[in-house]
Amino acid sequence: MRLRYAFWEIITMNDDKNKKSIQDKLANIKYNCDSKSHLILDQEKCKNCKEKTCTFICPANVYEYNEQLDEITVVYENCLECGACKLVCEKKSIEWHWPKASCGVVFKNS
Ligand code: SF4
Ligand code: SF4
Repeated sequence: MRLRYAFWEIITMNDDKNKKSIQDKLANIKYNCDSKSHLILDQEKCKNCKEKTCTFICPANVYEYNEQLDEITVVYENCLECGACKLVCEKKSIEWHWPKASCGVVFKNS
């Protein structure tokens, strides 16, 4: 079963007996990286996007604005598959797919 919102559960978990920092929790997340990105942007739409909300909403810092190239770089390998970027992108620039079977983030041991 896909754990679409598992990341949010991890960072909001309040376990007094075994408190871990967000960094500790992120360090326990494993990835089986796909060879191609499951996140595809329409860079033309992104050029006209003033807010660039994706660059600060993503909990894994997948998106970064490259001023020299005037485009958004996408480090899809770090994606936690929470879906937040797709929800907040006002220009509907993000073509969002699940990583192919057996690829993507693995929350086991978090
Ligand atoms: S919020 Fe959407 S349109 Fe704006 S930069 Fe990010 S992906 Fe592009
Ligand atoms: S789904 Fe989007 S917001 Fe969530 S971790 Fe992946 S790139 Fe970041």
